Amino acid sequence: SDHNLVYPASPAAMDWPALYPDFFPPNDEDDLTNATPDAAQATRATGATRACKRVEVADIGCGFGGLLIGLAPAMPQTLILGLEIRDHVTEFVQNRIHALRLQNRSSSACPTASPDEKPAFANIACVRANTMKFLPNFFDKGQLQKIFLCFPDPHFKARKHKARIVSPTLATEYAYVLRPGEGRVYTITDVEDLHKWMVGHFTAHPSFERVPPSEEKADEETDGEGDPCVRIMRTATEEGKKVSRNGGQKFVAVFRRVFDPPWP
Ligand code: SAM
Repeated sequence: SDHNLVYPASPAAMDWPALYPDFFPPNDEDDLTNATPDAAQATRATGATRACKRVEVADIGCGFGGLLIGLAPAMPQTLILGLEIRDHVTEFVQNRIHALRLQNRSSSACPTASPDEKPAFANIACVRANTMKFLPNFFDKGQLQKIFLCFPDPHFKARKHKARIVSPTLATEYAYVLRPGEGRVYTITDVEDLHKWMVGHFTAHPSFERVPPSEEKADEETDGEGDPCVRIMRTATEEGKKVSRNGGQKFVAVFRRVFDPPWP
């Protein structure tokens, strides 16, 4: 049940600096006295304000966080948020990220080279959320570049299909938070019926089109031409690893958020 789920009234009500402290350096001299040397230097050098950075990538139903950890070094300047409904799993991922941040800080011999370069794993975080109900509480219209739906629960029985995280209504919510013309939804599953379901709903939706097959290939399959995110979601997710161990098949589809038609 959602009774004990805490969620923000709006994206502006979220405490983003608490999730990504290295990306939100304090912005006055009082705050700077308490800041880490790197954060203080970054603020003085750039005059950055606390409100400048926003999450641009969401991993919906992130499970144990493998995708977040795989994506972190691939897009180090981008804030990535995992959303997970199970509280103990969310807590596990939060602890995992915290440990990785500490481990990397204590093992790196020299401080980060420039104010723009952040410590490893500073750009990923995880919150507990039921994304089927509260996605627009976390993200503004057009905010996201990418949404990942990796190995969503298949809910095999027809009477359970309403629990699937892709439906016409949810596709409209994904379209709302994605940037028109650029935003992408990445899907992967080992259940062919669910793959067809997701492809059916996104292609039927007026805000989405499926990208050409060449753009659904991983970079390693195409001498670097393909999409590194496809490789990462195939290999870094816990479910992806499990399917590989069992010799299963992985079905991938990527959809582009198209521009809205002009008003008549
Ligand atoms: N994406 C991960 C992976 O590929 O390894 C985990 C896949 S697991 C099969 C599906 C995850 O989605 C579970 O961790 C589940 O708790 C989460 N989930 C299911 N419904 C959700 C919802 N409405 N909001 C957020 N997370 C949800």
